[in-house]
Amino acid sequence: MEQNEINYQVIINEIYNTVKTQENIGEITTYIPELAKIDPEKFGVYLTTIDKDGYGVGDWQTKFSIQSISKVLSLSAAYKLIGDQIWDRVGVEPSGNPFNSLVQLETDDGIPRNPLINAGAMVICDMLVNHLENPIDDFLRFIRKIANNPAIDYSKSIVESEKSVGYRNVALCNFIKSFDNIDNHPEKVLNFYFHMCSLEMNCQELTNTFMFLVNGGLDESKEQVLSVSQAKRINAIMQTCGFYDESGEFSFKVGLPGKSGVGGGILALHPGKYSIAVWSPKLNHKGNSYRGMKFLEHFTTRTKLSIF
Ligand code: GLN
Repeated sequence: MEQNEINYQVIINEIYNTVKTQENIGEITTYIPELAKIDPEKFGVYLTTIDKDGYGVGDWQTKFSIQSISKVLSLSAAYKLIGDQIWDRVGVEPSGNPFNSLVQLETDDGIPRNPLINAGAMVICDMLVNHLENPIDDFLRFIRKIANNPAIDYSKSIVESEKSVGYRNVALCNFIKSFDNIDNHPEKVLNFYFHMCSLEMNCQELTNTFMFLVNGGLDESKEQVLSVSQAKRINAIMQTCGFYDESGEFSFKVGLPGKSGVGGGILALHPGKYSIAVWSPKLNHKGNSYRGMKFLEHFTTRTKLSIF
């Protein structure tokens, strides 16, 4: 099917209604107290095409905590600022482990497997702390610019909530520091990391923010934020590492580069065609949105628009 022959609104409505009538399996995140308050039945979808057409269904206008989806954005900011040197300190291999795992760091001498797990994102945050004068403000400015949306912001309550229970993340950052792969004081890096994870967007805002990866590096304010090759590489990392130890499964069932977060969001995209965001807070046992994966599996099957 050609993209311009597809009636996206009809398709997303039908899939939404199908998935909504099926069992909603999984658990919402409870280890971050603020996230435990979210209504588990929230369910929203938004699709933005390369031609700027948009289609939404359900709770697409409600902002939610994008959590680890932001790891793609911090990676993009670091890639733009620093270039290929970032790969000296973080790898590009799938970890096959949970997002917050410590185990591989011991044998890998503190070099995280990839930038989309917590350990890798912390090393990227450390690089941004090195290069930005006010990392928290400057990163937010970067996001607002690529999204062309001044309304995007952090959630202070989520930042505080994560800090209050951040034992594993504190351990991860200190552990990497012990291998000399964190330059700054762990407290400073973690403060930035928790802010980054607390970014809030609705499904539409999320799709717009990620259009630079659909558009070969060209962002919503029409700036070439990344080169074509850099954008392709980030998409490749999302394809292989975006869903932790379920990245193979997502690739197998959905067939798009994407990234999940423990707030229940999934952002996926088809280079040159569209970006799509799904939000449903109940997570499967690998920490990825149950309905989000289901919806996207139906979507790429029905439209035949996966990258394969
Ligand atoms: N802020 C969360 C954490 O660091 C992000 C986890 C996620 O979305 N996978 O634990």
